[in-house]
Amino acid sequence: MSGILSGIRDDFPALAQKINGHPLVYFDNAATAQKPRPVLEAIQRYYEHDNANVHRGIHELSNRATAAYEGARERVAQFINAPSTKDIIFTRGTTEAINLVAATWGVANLQEGDVILLTELEHHSNLVPWQLLAQRTGAVLRFIPVTGDEGTLDLSDLDALFRDVKLLSITHISNALGTINPVAELCAKARAVDAVTLVDAAQSAGHLPLDVQAIGCDFLSFSGHKLCGPTGIGALYARAALQEAMPPYQGGGEMIAKVAFQSSEFHVPPHKFEAGTPNIAGAVGLHAALDYLDDIGRENIHAHDTELASYAKDRLAEFDGIRIFGPAGDRGGLVSFVFENVHALDLATMADQQGVAIRIGHHCTQPLHDKLGVPATARASFYFYNTRAEVDRFIEVLQKVMKLLS
Ligand code: PLP
Repeated sequence: MSGILSGIRDDFPALAQKINGHPLVYFDNAATAQKPRPVLEAIQRYYEHDNANVHRGIHELSNRATAAYEGARERVAQFINAPSTKDIIFTRGTTEAINLVAATWGVANLQEGDVILLTELEHHSNLVPWQLLAQRTGAVLRFIPVTGDEGTLDLSDLDALFRDVKLLSITHISNALGTINPVAELCAKARAVDAVTLVDAAQSAGHLPLDVQAIGCDFLSFSGHKLCGPTGIGALYARAALQEAMPPYQGGGEMIAKVAFQSSEFHVPPHKFEAGTPNIAGAVGLHAALDYLDDIGRENIHAHDTELASYAKDRLAEFDGIRIFGPAGDRGGLVSFVFENVHALDLATMADQQGVAIRIGHHCTQPLHDKLGVPATARASFYFYNTRAEVDRFIEVLQKVMKLLS
């Protein structure tokens, strides 16, 4: 792996800096990834040469901007093996994508007593929109339980879990524990009871090969910023057949075919769901990020991330009084932990003084943390530009911190 990745860090200007006099060790990749030069340059090039508003333009720059924007849609479709560009709706990110499904498909299709099946691992983005929808429609939320600190799903009674389910909405990889969920298996089970399915791929899209047709989901969402793209852009895969029957999300320009004073006719999907001037530069940056990742190879990224997470987990296990969360076997590229006698905030603050960036808190999974019985965990999350030497440095810093605090 190091052969494939040698020199790759030079593409990331942000990684070359010192923090508090120490080389930056950036282990907060589950929150957002750093950006390589090709992404930064694509955005700059777009603004310097092609900037214009998209669609219906009769001039060169508008045609170029439209080609860039629609080209990015094509690239996203290819990245996740969607059958058509019609299946791809640009959003601000995962959160907006899930809210879009709740506000459109959910409001049009769910009724009192219908069950929305989630897991106990969900990020608040894949929980709160469904709570709001449940309050509005009378639908009820049910949760696939997780088993203790390992955080894998308890699938021992699938028939009971899937009773009356109309929507299954689950994370692919848990941002809190690194659990990789069997999404294809669960989507197949959902299809067998005619339930619609959504996969939250925020933590998986940039970390392993994704194929929406192999997964067999109806919706899938991800964010550009977690896979080396810019913030403020993401995508929702929505099966075209479902989009036809979904009401619009927001009203405004771009999403209409014909407008009169009292009513409007809407554009065809996916444009029907993209009101207003879109994030064109964001789509351009996302396109460049997807190219960048595929040059490295997502199988390689997955192998590297999981190897590093497993190494970090083994090194963390050297400490006394540590509780490490997440699956024993295959896991996404992160490891979460707490120390018995050290507050997570003290730990992260002191690590930052040594140049090591980790995240502490409930990681937007407060109900899961309540279940685990901890208010906060510390999380180190990795990407393909991180190295074993950085894990060693992280452990060395933790050793120093533990000495000082104990
Ligand atoms: N889902 C998961 C699993 C996540 O990890 C995150 C972000 O951390 C989100 C959803 C929300 O993503 P965003 O804030 O980019 O919309």
